Amino acid sequence: MGLIVQKFGGSSVADAAHVMNVARIVTDTYKEGNDVVVVVSAQGNTTDDLITKALEINPKATKREMDMLLSAGEQISIALLSMAIDSLGYPAISLLGWQAGFETNSKYGSARIKSIRTDRLLLELGKKNIVIVAGFQGLCKYDDITTLGRGGSDTSAVAIAAALRADRCQIFTDVEGVYTADPHKVKGVKKLSEITYDEMLELATLGAQVLNNRSVEMAKKYNVELEVLSSLNPVSGTIVKEVAKMEKMLVRGVTKDTNVARISIIGVPDVPGIAFKIFSKLAAKRINVDIILQSVGRDNTKDISFTVSRDNGPKAVELLENFNLLDGKKIVCDRDVAKISVVGAGMETHPGTASKMFEALFSVDVNIQMISTSEIKISVLISASDAERAVNAVHRAFIPEE
Ligand code: ADP
Ligand code: ASP
Ligand code: MG
Repeated sequence: MGLIVQKFGGSSVADAAHVMNVARIVTDTYKEGNDVVVVVSAQGNTTDDLITKALEINPKATKREMDMLLSAGEQISIALLSMAIDSLGYPAISLLGWQAGFETNSKYGSARIKSIRTDRLLLELGKKNIVIVAGFQGLCKYDDITTLGRGGSDTSAVAIAAALRADRCQIFTDVEGVYTADPHKVKGVKKLSEITYDEMLELATLGAQVLNNRSVEMAKKYNVELEVLSSLNPVSGTIVKEVAKMEKMLVRGVTKDTNVARISIIGVPDVPGIAFKIFSKLAAKRINVDIILQSVGRDNTKDISFTVSRDNGPKAVELLENFNLLDGKKIVCDRDVAKISVVGAGMETHPGTASKMFEALFSVDVNIQMISTSEIKISVLISASDAERAVNAVHRAFIPEE
């Protein structure tokens, strides 16, 4: 008996049958004598469909109005799930983000949770209600609805688990846990029984959307142990925690991220301060830069290439084209790229990981455009058309088939 937070993603509540399935999982947990808070996402592709609707009307819609629109998806799910639980004969109440006490900053579209006022949640739990909370949303200081960014319901669930000091935080999804690569895209993947916060954070940041990276960051900060498991198949999933069983694996996972664009500036002056001026310009506009490559200077000029998220590509190019320091310089943006990464804490102490990855890419004739490394990951930038082949080859090289 305890307090359990359960989160169900869009595919887990896609239609009436799925909603009833979730209602049964939740009520089974409640029947065991637990207090249960449930966080749900919008049904199926609702969020994408709402974005399409907005684009049809105004491609330049403000982020405030987008948040107002997108938050509606989760409102539908909470009401339906509450009705489903009621039909099974159990007490439930649905709450929007603001009713559940989610206070965020006012960065519409990617708001950060500042705090959760837990009084309403506690009141409803005290009444023995199953409390169903709309994920992905909160309220800012202007009393406006905000959303937390795509995949943000995971963060809502972890935030509630942290605020209520829940005994368990379960993230139910359409796969049975965290795998060595996306089970829908890569052959021969293995389910991990445990993974550390740090490894999961890298995997999530580098493209494994099974958990939102901010949710992992928050789970680490507040020491919330996460369990990722299937809403359709009741088998044990993956535990995300501070120290995990190593299972003698050098590499825990391989990811593919296609949300990348590469920008190259050709022939910039080869003098001190150039990189500083370019990257501070981008930083001032909050454009995050990832891999950076600078060529050796020749004839007093050099080339600088770097990657940004795909949606930031046009903004970054516009900014650089209007930067007088780069007047007349050729600026190229390639959105046809993908980033393939290997992640694993074991890499720190094992030389040869990089060469093994490069050999795997060579074996399927994939050209590497850029490379970046840290203690627990190696990433390469390649052409998007090679991505599927590359991720499979790299996975084969590191994760032996059983
Ligand atoms: P939800 O709607 O439940 O939030 P998501 O679509 O956001 O689900 O995340 C689950 C999906 O993440 C899976 O269907 C899978 O295709 C994808 N995925 C990518 N990488 C991984 C991985 N390493 N392990 C498990 N799933 C992964
Ligand atoms: N519905 C939102 C999205 O599709 C939030 C979530 O699913 O976590 O991004
Ligand atoms: Mg998700």
